[in-house]
Amino acid sequence: MTFRYELLRTDPSTGARRGTFHTPHGPVQTPGFMPVGTQGTVKGLTIDQVAGTGAEMILGNTYHLALRPGPETVRALGGLHAMFGWEGPILTDSGGFQIFSLKDINKITEHSVVFRSHIDGAIIDLTPERSIEIQEALGSDVAMVLDHVVALPAEPDEVQMAMERSIRWAERCLNAAGRSDQARFAIVQGGLDVPLRVQCARELSSMGFEGYAVGGLSVGEAPAEMYRITGATTPELPTDKPRYLMGVGRPVDLLESVMRGIDLFDCVMPTRNGRNGLAFTDLGPIKIRNAKHRHATEPLEPECPCLACTRHTRGYLRHLFIAGEMLGPILMSLHNLTYYQRLMQGAREAIEAGTLAEYVAEKKRGWGIS
Ligand SMILES: [Zn+2]
Repeated sequence: MTFRYELLRTDPSTGARRGTFHTPHGPVQTPGFMPVGTQGTVKGLTIDQVAGTGAEMILGNTYHLALRPGPETVRALGGLHAMFGWEGPILTDSGGFQIFSLKDINKITEHSVVFRSHIDGAIIDLTPERSIEIQEALGSDVAMVLDHVVALPAEPDEVQMAMERSIRWAERCLNAAGRSDQARFAIVQGGLDVPLRVQCARELSSMGFEGYAVGGLSVGEAPAEMYRITGATTPELPTDKPRYLMGVGRPVDLLESVMRGIDLFDCVMPTRNGRNGLAFTDLGPIKIRNAKHRHATEPLEPECPCLACTRHTRGYLRHLFIAGEMLGPILMSLHNLTYYQRLMQGAREAIEAGTLAEYVAEKKRGWGIS
């Protein structure tokens, strides 16, 4: 089989899974974190730097890549792997999440979602079939189905309607798919309603996707709600397929979700926050622009192997931000991605050793979260 999820160990006390997701571009150790390459680049970093953080799989945004440079240009440049210069696996989203966040300019029907390009104003009619066609042209290893995302809070009727439509659209995506070297992941919807989530997970599980995502979370609900829904959804998904929690999140959200059986994550937080001068560490976030770092000679984090920490002081990093130098955001993004990868590596080792609960408790103590 081209795609295979190998379950290596399940943590008996939490439900966390240690596994390997095999793809045509190599294996991904799970739990794992995918850096986000929105427009064909993990902002500010070279592809070697991204690989150097320990990342094995990256994410590309179909919405952005479909508008610019366009799927035919990506295909002409040899597909996403050749265009990025990334030899490992790549996952593309369906474009749905970005489109649905443009609330005032889209029209959703059973057929498609119609929206206006933010680049040139062109009207685009995105059907589930077209989303798959674009992702096949991009040539990612994993394509996400187009789903109907609702902003929360929403009326129960609306959440149910969107969930049921997401199932029908998932089936249309599956029927439209033609590439044998591309996996399709379905997306569980259903808002914060456990019975709807369970129904959606069960129906999608019977359809034979190569992987399953939990979508529509981290959209403003309380973290406890997100954990509750994730924890209620994963037991309904096949144990022999990877589970991906989309767009999550903070370091604590990753660990809480690993304990609820999630295998894959993506989020812009490490890079976006890095660009804005915030570093994640085991002792909580550091705002590097803060005046107290002016003369600080210590690194962001003493044990971190990244370039920012092994070669530079907090005082220098602060100077780069105050002076508006581009190296500041680069080094902070590098540190944050390294931090996320080390966090996941630590989780994998803890699952193997049977000490995940202790690992999570220790991290939370450091972050000051009870
Ligand atoms: Zn570092």
